[in-house]
Amino acid sequence: MIFENDTSLMKKLQILSDAAKYDVACTSSGVQRDGVKGDIGNAMSCGICHSFAADGRCISLLKILFTNECIYNCKYCINRVSNDVPRTSFTPEEVCHLTMEFYRRNYIEGLFLSSGILYSPDYTMELICRTLHDLRLRAKYNI
Ligand code: SF4
Repeated sequence: MIFENDTSLMKKLQILSDAAKYDVACTSSGVQRDGVKGDIGNAMSCGICHSFAADGRCISLLKILFTNECIYNCKYCINRVSNDVPRTSFTPEEVCHLTMEFYRRNYIEGLFLSSGILYSPDYTMELICRTLHDLRLRAKYNI
């Protein structure tokens, strides 16, 4: 089970995938299209986005922030400290778990990980490096 009855992890995923949708660095950012009866397909504005590999393949990416508990107050940003939005952070273990479980189910082929700044830039980068280290070396994610 991806969430193993862990509603707090599901809630984190909802908050931090929604918070990442404004990071317009891929082809499907921010597109919301509901399914229509009799037609095929729908699209969510957050969660899984698409990008292109060097060989031209379209690939699906789990698109999340590591944290939106940002200490900074960039005026243009929804995650600025002065904005009243739900806040949370993943742990490196949680990002690894979600990435591997989504990958095993063929939902995604990669991870688009961005982040606000938790406590300090160095602290945040340490957490992200730990996440990538664990994905590569513990989970053997080598795509
Ligand atoms: S540093 Fe924080 S407030 Fe500024 S753009 Fe990044 S997430 Fe937003």
